[in-house]
Amino acid sequence: MTKTVKDPWLLTPGPLTTSARTKEAMLHDWGSRDVQFIETNKRVRERLLAIAGAEATHVCVPLQGSGTFAVEATLGTMIAKNGTALILINGAYGHRMAKILDYAGRRYEILETPEDTPPDLDALGAALKTDPGISHVLAVYCETTSGILNPIADIARITAEHDRSLLIDAMSAFGALPMDAKNIPFDALMASSNKCLEGVPGMGFALIRQSALEKCQGNAHALSLDLYDQWTAMDKNGQWRFTPPTHVIAAFDAAIDQFEAEGGVSARHTRYSNNGKILIDGMRALGFETLLPDDLQAPIIVTFKMPADKAFDFQAFYDALGRKGYVIYPGKLTVAPSFRIGCIGHLDETVMTGALDAIRQTLKDMGVTSGAPEI
Ligand SMILES: *Cc1c(COP(=O)(O)O)cnc(C)c1O
Repeated sequence: MTKTVKDPWLLTPGPLTTSARTKEAMLHDWGSRDVQFIETNKRVRERLLAIAGAEATHVCVPLQGSGTFAVEATLGTMIAKNGTALILINGAYGHRMAKILDYAGRRYEILETPEDTPPDLDALGAALKTDPGISHVLAVYCETTSGILNPIADIARITAEHDRSLLIDAMSAFGALPMDAKNIPFDALMASSNKCLEGVPGMGFALIRQSALEKCQGNAHALSLDLYDQWTAMDKNGQWRFTPPTHVIAAFDAAIDQFEAEGGVSARHTRYSNNGKILIDGMRALGFETLLPDDLQAPIIVTFKMPADKAFDFQAFYDALGRKGYVIYPGKLTVAPSFRIGCIGHLDETVMTGALDAIRQTLKDMGVTSGAPEI
């Protein structure tokens, strides 16, 4: 994979490494009413729906900002002021949705499991059965806090069996993990330009069931986050309500071209899985342990437990890898001290092998003999 000379490889949950072609797509200026820009915007929206097999049922509503803006806008638009959400939490992004609902003044309940444990599906079914007040279920597909793969198809099935509305934070999954609206019923799915689709950061989007969105006028608690208004305005004249992130959309269009040329979701899943396998095998050979067993690990980002070796110092390790051109990420867990290494972005096996060489050399320089954790 090629990138601009000297830029580090980003083995993180985002922003991520993008291709030279994606960056080059931004070397122009477009007016917001520019015909070419309006066409690009339309094409991006249509292709995002197609990735989820949702062209016939859903609409794509894009929004300026990072992924959280899209999550906040979707929850505020979809959940009526008298609605109640049930949030499945096993990491920081689930907690963030609860915080969003605190700000928006919406009622919610939580079903929480530890960060290394998938949601309790029996408890989900039981909660929906006993509490008719719950209008929406909120779930995270890949919880990036740990890298755990949550059983989204089962969650969708149970939610549909009880005739409730499912909103999915698929931020770090969309484009790399399977998602077909025809088999996995959801009313809204949120993702962004910058994760597995390998665009540049700056916009999020939601794929929303049109029949559900049509009922959401007046729900939103903030004008700029009103996706009903964003949708109806954009449908009228193809334009954004407020200054569009023109360069981000141009880069996103180029990134989706490359995504399709690579072979879509299955090809991207294969490349990221291969990245993850090289990383995990290589780290285990150095004594490191992953937080998650392989059957719960999504091929997105891997959490490693902090080594027990007294010579290991995370900040020094992080800095030394950065000097060698590889950026990793601190842990975000409450269950155990940890750090994370990502498999997503414009990265391939050469990059992953290079990262492992850099890790091996850095451990040697630090005098660390094993990456094995305490427990
Ligand atoms: C990255 C991410 C988000 C959004 O984060 P931003 O920093 O706002 O882009 C939300 N949910 C999950 C699961 C994520 O991985």
